Amino acid sequence: MTEHAVVIAGGGPTGLMLAGELALAGIDVVIVERRASQDLDGSRAGGLHSRTIEVLDQRGIAERFLSAGQVAQVQGFAGIRLDISDFPTRHNYGLALWQSRFEPILADWVGELGVPILRGCEVVGFAQDDTGVDVEVSGDTSLRAEYLVGCDGGRSLIRKAAGIDFAGLDPSTSWLIAEVEMDEEPELGMRREGGGIGPVNRLEGGGPFGVVLRERHVDHIGDPSMDELREALVAVYGTDYGLRTANWISRFTDMARQAASYRRGRVLLAGDAAHVHPPQGGQGLNTGVQDAVNLGWKLAQVVNWTSPESLLDTYHAERHPVGARVLHNTMAAVALSSPDDRHQALRDTMTELLSMDEPRRRIAAMLSGLDIHYDLGDGHPLLGRRMPDLDLHTADGPTRVFTLLHDARPVLLNLDPGGFDISPWENRVRFVDARHAGVWELPVLGEVAAPPAVLIRPDGHVAWAGDLTDPELPRALATWFGAATPAH
Ligand SMILES: Cc1cc2nc3c(=O)[nH]c(=O)nc-3n(C[C@H](O)[C@H](O)[C@H](O)COP(=O)(O)OP(=O)(O)OC[C@H]3O[C@@H](n4cnc5c(N)ncnc54)[C@H](O)[C@@H]3O)c2cc1C
Repeated sequence: MTEHAVVIAGGGPTGLMLAGELALAGIDVVIVERRASQDLDGSRAGGLHSRTIEVLDQRGIAERFLSAGQVAQVQGFAGIRLDISDFPTRHNYGLALWQSRFEPILADWVGELGVPILRGCEVVGFAQDDTGVDVEVSGDTSLRAEYLVGCDGGRSLIRKAAGIDFAGLDPSTSWLIAEVEMDEEPELGMRREGGGIGPVNRLEGGGPFGVVLRERHVDHIGDPSMDELREALVAVYGTDYGLRTANWISRFTDMARQAASYRRGRVLLAGDAAHVHPPQGGQGLNTGVQDAVNLGWKLAQVVNWTSPESLLDTYHAERHPVGARVLHNTMAAVALSSPDDRHQALRDTMTELLSMDEPRRRIAAMLSGLDIHYDLGDGHPLLGRRMPDLDLHTADGPTRVFTLLHDARPVLLNLDPGGFDISPWENRVRFVDARHAGVWELPVLGEVAAPPAVLIRPDGHVAWAGDLTDPELPRALATWFGAATPAH
């Protein structure tokens, strides 16, 4: 039996990101992945939202993705375009980049960090005890880990075997999705009832085309066929446009379910294993990657004995409400896409509302993940929110906040004259003296008062903001990054 600190079941976007975060913290982690390679059946997710690009920027890898995709105003709610170019972030846009291209780039980064991936095998069961988890892998392999994380997608075996309830709504609508070659030029664009046809290569246009078609029935047995695709095209467009071949055909529904708990003992869930919802708003992959960034440093600190196991409870406390909100807004988007005249009237009303600045900012900040606010109590408006990527001047020259987060370590950023004895935490927290000339602006909230100092978690969220003499600062340091080390 091989031992690892953490075993991750599933090497999709969530599992890969989590593995990278753990590896940065020096944790011995292994991924078990069913697929023999990183290749995907279908393109799946269409891109990244602003906060995910920021999160990748925090690790110094955003450019790898930006150079592979197309920056665009991709944000939309139920087909209503939402421009975020006035948002106070360096990445005031989304990135059109298919998941089939996103995953290999992320996997390369994880490979550079030295994480082993056991490909072509799957986790088939596990048993946890007080000190760890025995993980049974297909092909008679057994692994022993301190923690097992299920990043194994919506049908998660880990979630089911852990007995975690997956509560929510059964599907009411089913869509076919495919990449096709057609003899005739199809009608391009989104449809009132959701779905539509568009070129796979969004820059060059032309075929192959991606098609999404609302189906008449919800229940289906087996994989979708070419005949079903042809029938659905004719039902929606009155023609199959000379459908020749399909590179792949798949199906998705508006099922919306969420794990009742993201943790059971030494077993945790992240990504689609913890929440599934319809793809409206393009939030699934983004939410999974951000789950991973919230969990990674916490799990690393628990494994390193820096923090007590109770730190892991903050993962559920912070990310479950975020997932619930995603389910909620996708349910609203599905309801709005009903094709009848009454819903069209509602969409028209929403379009008018969302053309106003305040509603647009609120909804767009929610969909882009830029407004996420973990409840860390009362205090400065920054508390629990994402730290803006300020330009800084330090004794070593100019830098920016996200650069300070590249190694996924916490930062105590001091922006005022004044000192603080960081020595009880100096092996864990980096103390940086810097100056920033300019305003502090947050999405939706606008300008906020500049705090004299901020304590930034490795996930880029603010754990404390105030004056270095504030007695809350040592408490915040101990809460998030472990007890003070006694002086020798
Ligand atoms: C049509 C469609 C469009 C979408 N569009 C968007 C979009 O625009 N934006 C967006 O953010 N999201 C979108 N999504 C959602 C997105 O694809 C998922 O949310 C995302 O893939 C979730 O990542 P994950 O790593 O959590 O799970 P998955 O991608 O499902 O990865 C799970 C991995 O676990 C492996 N696995 C499963 N079981 C086991 C096992 N027992 N042992 C080992 N390995 C196992 C699988 O092979 C897989 O690689 C879309 C989804 C669909 C279907």
